[in-house]
Amino acid sequence: MNITRRKLLIGGGAICAAGIGASVLGPMLSREGRLVPGKPRYGFIAGSEGELPKSADAVIIGAGILGIMTAINLREKGLSVVIVEKGNIAGEQSSRFYGQLITYKMEGDTFMLHHLGKEHWRGMNEKIGTDTSYRTQGRVEVPLSDEDLQNVRTWIEGKKELLSGSLPLKTRIIQGEELKTRLKGATSNWTIAGFEEDSGSLDPEIAAFRMAEYAKKIGVKIYTQCAARGIEKQGGTVSDVVTEKGAIRTTRAVVCGGAWSRLFMQNLDVDLETLPAYQSQQLITGGPGLPGANVALPGNIFFREQANGTYATSPRIEVIPIVKESFFYGYKYLPLLAPEDVFVHFSINEQLLNSFSQKTKWSLSEQSPFENNRDMVAVADFKDLNESLVTLKKEFPAFTHSKIIDQWSGAMAVAPDESPIISVVNECPGLVVNTATSWGMTESPVSSAIAADLLLGNKPVIDPKAFSLYRFS
Ligand SMILES: Cc1cc2nc3c(=O)[nH]c(=O)nc-3n(C[C@H](O)[C@H](O)[C@H](O)COP(=O)(O)OP(=O)(O)OC[C@H]3O[C@@H](n4cnc5c(N)ncnc54)[C@H](O)[C@@H]3O)c2cc1C
Repeated sequence: MNITRRKLLIGGGAICAAGIGASVLGPMLSREGRLVPGKPRYGFIAGSEGELPKSADAVIIGAGILGIMTAINLREKGLSVVIVEKGNIAGEQSSRFYGQLITYKMEGDTFMLHHLGKEHWRGMNEKIGTDTSYRTQGRVEVPLSDEDLQNVRTWIEGKKELLSGSLPLKTRIIQGEELKTRLKGATSNWTIAGFEEDSGSLDPEIAAFRMAEYAKKIGVKIYTQCAARGIEKQGGTVSDVVTEKGAIRTTRAVVCGGAWSRLFMQNLDVDLETLPAYQSQQLITGGPGLPGANVALPGNIFFREQANGTYATSPRIEVIPIVKESFFYGYKYLPLLAPEDVFVHFSINEQLLNSFSQKTKWSLSEQSPFENNRDMVAVADFKDLNESLVTLKKEFPAFTHSKIIDQWSGAMAVAPDESPIISVVNECPGLVVNTATSWGMTESPVSSAIAADLLLGNKPVIDPKAFSLYRFS
């Protein structure tokens, strides 16, 4: 059963309270949506060697793309920076993403975060002197309905007005011959679409690893298999980041812990509200006669050509495991009443029980939960992936002989308004969080600049109010 995002938003608690029939409960119980130990996909790179430094100007918790980019930002401002990572570099979300850098239909300050993020990525290969896999690609999205089309038209007009000449919006409506060419080989006769000319593309097997190499090259130290257990304070402010391998003296720390940030902050008595969401992806071989672009079509057809000519595809179905928190603040996801273009599957599995028994407080001298969860990944939903491939081949027969190279899933943690949390932590001066995003690849060059500015007391390029940790309370 597909449950649209609209229906998801009543929250896990409400669902259970309403009573769940066997026809709903059955699929929820058998569905994937579990976290298991994994390893980074393809691009493994080693961390720094030697002893953990005794002190640093700033310590970053987590070596995903947000941690890496935040570290680069601070290092480029002249600080000595250490990243501590419980598993491997980009071992979780940052080697498992789909890889589109887009602004399409984005609203509020998140739109600017994406718009500027895309601009940064356009210059990244040149800046770091390496091919990060970044390509400006162009993305075609066929609207789901007349209403959707009208909304896109209104969105384009609004954003054009918002942006001044320096960095104009490059999204427009296309039809006729241009659309035919951009969707060459399609079986259906699509008549109209939105086209984001300057959308970007990054490959999950490459991008974060190249950025981590660059970080190391400019002097960032990255220690892997080194979980941060917590923050020690002196006089109410950050004094040490305590890891399983010892403490690092510092007055500045940034939590970029991805799906684990909430748990890390719980030990500091700070409520960072997120719920888990998993999405399955696959990589397939391409072939002649395909549109080398990013395509999104009704019927859950999504594909993106990678730098080496392979294709990333995904049904883009979000699997939502019901956890303890779903009952407490699932209702806060109500304002997310988004267009019905994302499908959601609920899953009830052992994670529900685990979320009740999960330790949320520990002392910094004892083993923390992070040491038992090194590189955790979600189990892929192979049924959805295989079905979506059949649909894709029907719509684009040029994929008929494509072979599956890899199938995987990634675990995100999403805030109630789907915007990232980039914020100072009032309860712990010296600590900043940069986390809780489902668009971290697009946003990371800018979200990390904002995090660095917040840490150093500078004025960020975008007003961070919309990303505050406290916006839900
Ligand atoms: C399936 C999927 C598709 C996506 N598609 C896109 C897309 O098309 N475009 C886009 O822009 N974004 C996309 N994203 C989102 C993007 O991948 C993420 O937002 C981004 O990778 C998050 O980076 P991160 O650094 O916050 O998290 P992660 O990459 O998960 O890194 C967090 C790191 O922190 C470490 N850590 C946690 N706790 C501790 C601790 N206590 N001590 C030490 N280390 C710790 C973890 O081990 C982990 O390595 C997608 C994500 C997924 C899962």
